Amino acid sequence: MSSLRRVCVFCGSSSGVRPEYESAGRALGAALAGRGIGVVYGGASVGLMGVVADAVLAASGEAIGVIPQALVDREVAHPALSELHVVGSMHERKALMAELSDAFVALPGGMGTLEELFEVFTWRQLGLHEKPIALLDVLGYWAGLAAFLEHVEAEGFLRAVHHRTIMIEADVGTLLERLAQEAA
Ligand code: AMP
Repeated sequence: MSSLRRVCVFCGSSSGVRPEYESAGRALGAALAGRGIGVVYGGASVGLMGVVADAVLAASGEAIGVIPQALVDREVAHPALSELHVVGSMHERKALMAELSDAFVALPGGMGTLEELFEVFTWRQLGLHEKPIALLDVLGYWAGLAAFLEHVEAEGFLRAVHHRTIMIEADVGTLLERLAQEAA
């Protein structure tokens, strides 16, 4: 049995300009709920964050939010989550999201999403956890980042063994299968 019980989803507090981003958020939320995998995320009701949570809840899945008190109003804490943890800081938020999850998936997003992604990437590089990390590549959104990571490795600032730990997948089903295999 896979040990993939909960997946942490990082994604935009905006929805982006293309409808495909929201569609991907809905597809990911529904697919996770359909497989009985809980979702841990930033607890907001705005942007792709809200879209993912709504899709999970609509499919009777488990949606766990972790939000700092300072953002409860600004990002409008989702009112109907399975669990909402209100924490004291951004740092506590990331630490608890990581602790509650068995893997990480980034959907398209902005600076907050990148910051969260790179933190779990660097934590893995340092051996602080061994949880899989994946990017859901909607409309090639992550292609520029993938190319930059190639550059970072080619220039000798990222070891291949660490680079390999980031998986990039365009298909939700394939991504979840790969995560389940890696987390097993
Ligand atoms: P964004 O991708 O910029 O729309 O942000 C997505 C989420 O990341 C939002 O819930 C932000 O509050 C959150 N975020 C932004 N910066 C940080 C940070 N330094 N630590 C933790 N979460 C953050």
